[in-house]
Amino acid sequence: MSTEIHVAIIGAGVIGLAAAREIAGRGKGVFVFEKSRTYGLETSSRNSEVIHAGLYYPEDSLKAKFCVGGKTLLYKLCEKHNIPFKKSGKIVVAVDENEIAWLDRLHEQGRKNGVEDLRRLSQKELKKLEPNIEARAGLLSPSSGILDSHTLLKFLYSQAREKGAEFVFDTEIVGLERTGEKYRVEIKDREGISAVISQVVINSAGLNSDRIAQLVGMDIGEARYKLNYCKGEYFSLDSKYRNLVRRLIYPVPEQAGHGIHWKQGLDGRVLLGPSAYYVEAIDYAVDETHKQYFYNSAKRFLPFVELEDLTPESAGIRPKLQSPGEGFRDFVIAHEEKAGFPGLINLIGIESPGLTAAPAIARYVSNMVAEFFH
Ligand SMILES: Cc1cc2nc3c(=O)[nH]c(=O)nc-3n(C[C@H](O)[C@H](O)[C@H](O)COP(=O)(O)OP(=O)(O)OC[C@H]3O[C@@H](n4cnc5c(N)ncnc54)[C@H](O)[C@@H]3O)c2cc1C
Repeated sequence: MSTEIHVAIIGAGVIGLAAAREIAGRGKGVFVFEKSRTYGLETSSRNSEVIHAGLYYPEDSLKAKFCVGGKTLLYKLCEKHNIPFKKSGKIVVAVDENEIAWLDRLHEQGRKNGVEDLRRLSQKELKKLEPNIEARAGLLSPSSGILDSHTLLKFLYSQAREKGAEFVFDTEIVGLERTGEKYRVEIKDREGISAVISQVVINSAGLNSDRIAQLVGMDIGEARYKLNYCKGEYFSLDSKYRNLVRRLIYPVPEQAGHGIHWKQGLDGRVLLGPSAYYVEAIDYAVDETHKQYFYNSAKRFLPFVELEDLTPESAGIRPKLQSPGEGFRDFVIAHEEKAGFPGLINLIGIESPGLTAAPAIARYVSNMVAEFFH
């Protein structure tokens, strides 16, 4: 006989943790299965730790809605629970004349998404705010900021546990099958393979989330759930660069990422990144030969940067629905009732702004669960 549970969450990244906290808080029995030895070792701890304002995404998209909503919730959470953060503000810069039209588009998009506090900056205004930045114009986003994502993850984990969620580490989901009204969730741990029966399954398996959908029998080609891996590397800058720039500085966005930006973290260290290029396999090594590319990108608006001051730092991998060259793809956050899987909630393609959006996504998913049990 297999153990019966209410809700199985697959993956203890920021999405699984935030969802566990919300759902356990509503009195449902929650088990979180995580293949690694602890929470948050994948994408949730390999990112820029930026609280995004919500400029980049089409209005009415889930990315826009949950970024703007998540930002407010996240700042409140950080303030209330002493999670280190800084509302530093951010400036997107146009380096040449052609990029100015981009700033206007971003400004307009941000406004449509409900980001009310954006301000266009002339070259003179930009110089006044950030004397060390070289650019033709800027777009100031006062509500962007940075946070300590590790403390956030720890907080979500502790609160989820306090509310009654159970965490099962070193345990990989290797099978998922609909049996009657429920799901048979097959797990692999040190002792071998066993199973639990769950009424609800939340697939927040990050880079593996498309494969989990496939395990249950969904046609991920037809559903357009197949993920691509898009790597983002960071280089750090020598400590002499500290405090030369006060805000986050971003170039105009690239096709697959937000562009190589400047960030001085809460620990004072300055990072450049992340790059964005598609890879076949998950590998977090930083390729040192990419240093020149980082230097060239940064030099455009940070003229004081010297090549020898860049050191390879870290990397993360985006779970991207968008294939190379494809247009915008939104988060998939779906109760798969219509596809014949009532009680299965898929979260696929939760790339940036997933960290910012996590608290809002968790509420949304928790409401889906409440509706299911109603
Ligand atoms: C380079 C980069 C920069 C980014 N910068 C930002 C930023 O500045 N701001 C922002 O808002 N967002 C940012 N993001 C996005 C953000 O980091 C992600 O959206 C978020 O961390 C996704 O969290 P997650 O819980 O979905 O995934 P993950 O953190 O990857 O968690 C998924 C978990 O599932 C587990 N798992 C997988 N398969 C199984 C299985 N079969 N059984 C059990 N467990 C399993 C994994 O071990 C993992 O712990 C960035 C992402 C990248 C890559």
